[in-house]
Amino acid sequence: MTGAAKQSFTSLNPVTGEVLDAYPIDGPEEVAIAVARAREATLLWQGLGYFGREKILLAWAKLLVDRINECAQLISLETGKPTSDATLEATLAIGHLSWAARNAHSILRDQFRRPGILMANMSAKVERSPLGVVGVIGPWNHPIFTPMGSISYALAAGNTVVFKPSEFTPGVGVWLAKTFAEIAPSSSIFAVVTGMGETGRTLCESGVDKVAFTGSTTTAKNVAATCAKTLTPVLIECGGKDPVIIAADADLKLAADATLWSAMSNAGQTCIGAERVYVHEKVADQFISLIVEKGKKIVPGTPGVGNYGPATMPKQLGIIESHIEDALARGGVALLGGIDSVKPPYVEPVILTNVPEDSIAMKSETFGPVIIINRVREISEAVRLSNESPYGLGASVWSKKNGSEIASQLHCGMVAVNSTISFAAVPTVPFGGVKDSGYGRIHGPEGLLEFTYARSIVRARFQLPILLTSFGRNAFADRLVVGLARVLYGRKLNKKPK
Ligand code: NDP
Repeated sequence: MTGAAKQSFTSLNPVTGEVLDAYPIDGPEEVAIAVARAREATLLWQGLGYFGREKILLAWAKLLVDRINECAQLISLETGKPTSDATLEATLAIGHLSWAARNAHSILRDQFRRPGILMANMSAKVERSPLGVVGVIGPWNHPIFTPMGSISYALAAGNTVVFKPSEFTPGVGVWLAKTFAEIAPSSSIFAVVTGMGETGRTLCESGVDKVAFTGSTTTAKNVAATCAKTLTPVLIECGGKDPVIIAADADLKLAADATLWSAMSNAGQTCIGAERVYVHEKVADQFISLIVEKGKKIVPGTPGVGNYGPATMPKQLGIIESHIEDALARGGVALLGGIDSVKPPYVEPVILTNVPEDSIAMKSETFGPVIIINRVREISEAVRLSNESPYGLGASVWSKKNGSEIASQLHCGMVAVNSTISFAAVPTVPFGGVKDSGYGRIHGPEGLLEFTYARSIVRARFQLPILLTSFGRNAFADRLVVGLARVLYGRKLNKKPK
């Protein structure tokens, strides 16, 4: 960020509409400066090696723990969510930062590979090299947890980062960069640019070596198209329409409690939050009565008063309303709340049932405190319907006996069995989706590998008396190669597969 930006924008408290602060709208010049400085800083950052970076990243993690209340307060002000939710989010982000810092060395160190008998005189290794400068573009709904899934892993792998936070949560982004600058040898290793969508587009065009984008599928397609012009690789983390499958042998009390939280916490603005439930008809009545009873006890409101806050982005209220309207018009039944539940800036809990599969509420991400519960005769039907979605981000399965077996049939990136969104809190497993939910992975070893490229180095340990890669190769060498191939592979290829 530079002071030279001509225009500015404000961040607002979505509960009160109060202006919280003003931030520059960084244009091509400011973005280019941030990227150029980040590129210069790659020498310093990479020169520290894994252990030098680990030390700094762990010091940053400690600083974030020390200031967690300040961080949670800021998140709560910019998003309207309860500070306890903001604290949990920050804690998870710090967990990922520490894991990435501690494990980058063992996951990304050089790997020696077998050269094969034909190349037995060679030693073969694969190095993982950082990409250079990574541009991170983040959303507002989990303004620390989500971008840190890319920032932490990119930094630990040896890249420098330029981060463009959402226009709704610029303060959290700027705060993150300031805390990093307090302990880092250079503030250019992790810098922030602020602005609207245009600043994000400029970052995509700035010559960064990779863009890690988290946001909606519509914007993701624009980002991918912009990056395609320069062949800049992209990691895409988009939304979902996450299903919950409740089998007849599920612990219904636990399932109802966790599903309600997953759907309604953060005002339903969680990419991996429950949006639709397929419950076995044998236990449907019981499950519905449990979740509706619990749903009646939660209310939206100001942080400290409500169980969850407002819709952070005012235009989302119209989308939520249209989904409820369409579901009811097509024969859906409201079990709790309904169209009148949308009371700007809040939405009271809405539970619907018997909603046709082709309604917008079943097909598109609602991103509000709305859950739809449909009955199924067989779990195979629940699996089929779950997989018919254009999205494939996360899912939950509740079954005492068959949870893992059901989970393996789902076309999505992550499944929580007898729990909800648990995969987001386990740093060793990758996070990401398929289909309209995106591609590439953050978190875990895959999240570190994502921000590196492989370099193969094959070295001659000694020279063979027969030259193969030479115009001097003779007929004897040719016969020898064919003979060797027959001995090595011929027998194996003639064998019938088991
Ligand atoms: P958007 O897609 O609207 O925006 C995401 C980011 O992209 C913002 O920083 C935005 O800036 C920026 N942006 C907008 N236009 C462009 C452009 N043309 N080029 C580059 N960047 C651009 O998403 P939201 O912020 O509304 O976030 C909500 C969405 O994110 C939901 O769909 C949710 O499911 C998804 N999400 C996915 C997660 C995952 O890991 N899979 C996690 C969390 C959320 P600005 O805000 O300033 O317009």
